[in-house]
Amino acid sequence: MPGIPLRNGGTAARIAVIPGDGIGKEVTPEAVKVLRAVAGSAKRPMEFIEFDWGADKFLREGVSLPVGAIEILRDEFDAMLFGELGADILLGLRFKLDLYVNARPVELLHDRLTPLRDRTEKDIRLMVFRENSEGLYVGVGGFFKKGTADEIAVQEDVNSRKGVERIIRYAFEYARHNGLKRVCMSDKSNAMNFAHDLWQRVFKEVRPEYAEIDSRHLYIDTLAMEIVRDPRQFDVIVTCNLFGDIISDLGAQLAGGLGLAPSGNIHPGKTSLFEPVHGSAPNIAGKGIANPLGSVLASAMMLEFLGWKPEAVALREAVRAALQENHVTPDLGGEKRTQAVGDWLAERVEVKLK
Ligand code: ATP
Repeated sequence: MPGIPLRNGGTAARIAVIPGDGIGKEVTPEAVKVLRAVAGSAKRPMEFIEFDWGADKFLREGVSLPVGAIEILRDEFDAMLFGELGADILLGLRFKLDLYVNARPVELLHDRLTPLRDRTEKDIRLMVFRENSEGLYVGVGGFFKKGTADEIAVQEDVNSRKGVERIIRYAFEYARHNGLKRVCMSDKSNAMNFAHDLWQRVFKEVRPEYAEIDSRHLYIDTLAMEIVRDPRQFDVIVTCNLFGDIISDLGAQLAGGLGLAPSGNIHPGKTSLFEPVHGSAPNIAGKGIANPLGSVLASAMMLEFLGWKPEAVALREAVRAALQENHVTPDLGGEKRTQAVGDWLAERVEVKLK
């Protein structure tokens, strides 16, 4: 997608850095280290402002996100780089900043990392776009006779015409801008005959505008099977909030697991949020062995969002090289520590972009 116009007239990008909890505190500084190397070598100015929001602040001061935090992020920054923050904070930000696109690239960067037999790098390269602002995650519903044997719990699936259309259009636009030939919309319209009937109608209405793109529909259960059977069939997948949550994690495993998976929470033209998919990983936090590649790849997505595609490509290539030369952490079979991986990548992109 084309980059966004930067807040301060198109030169320096202001990035809010929020490492958050657990290994977020270890991987995020490495991503920033690599981004600083990009900024220096490519003469792309970037300004990083760090915030200590998260669980530790909550324990110290009783607040995780201070009053006005969201407005500051929205009005004063071009993008946000997160480490790990609790689901409540993240969901709040997605809704309040209307970050309606959840972009989850599934890209195999080294053959040995996929659990699929005989699949190689060229076979697994696709993008999942998950609707990120409505669906079953809006928190509309209620209990009836709670706590009794007759209890009923209702969770509403909220789908607006506007919400469905903008994510479907985003998927097509992404395909068009990136020369990708195939878009697959996935739903469960055979069972969810109201909400996903809307998805069907919108999809049918929008697809003729992208006649050069081969668009198809698969029910979500079929998609789950097909993506494992033959991932080569897919370039771009677009689906609702719940299905996107699940299918993108399935994709993450096909491409090497949690330590490597990046994500973007995007509203084109507005402050957007980039983060690794993994959580705080308390079992390894503080040991200096967390894999920073998910965070670095999220930073590459951020660069692309800011309109700095060559730099994003250089970053991804550096990650690919780290995997090839085994400059990686123990979770990927290497012996390097988190900081050593960051140092190596920073040096690599510096040389590349000079
Ligand atoms: P949270 O409750 O914050 O989601 P979690 O431990 O339940 O944390 P994740 O942090 O997402 O879930 O990860 C699950 C496991 O995967 C971790 O315990 C860890 O062993 C492994 N893992 C995840 N991310 C990384 C990483 N960046 N480097 C190494 N291992 C990782």
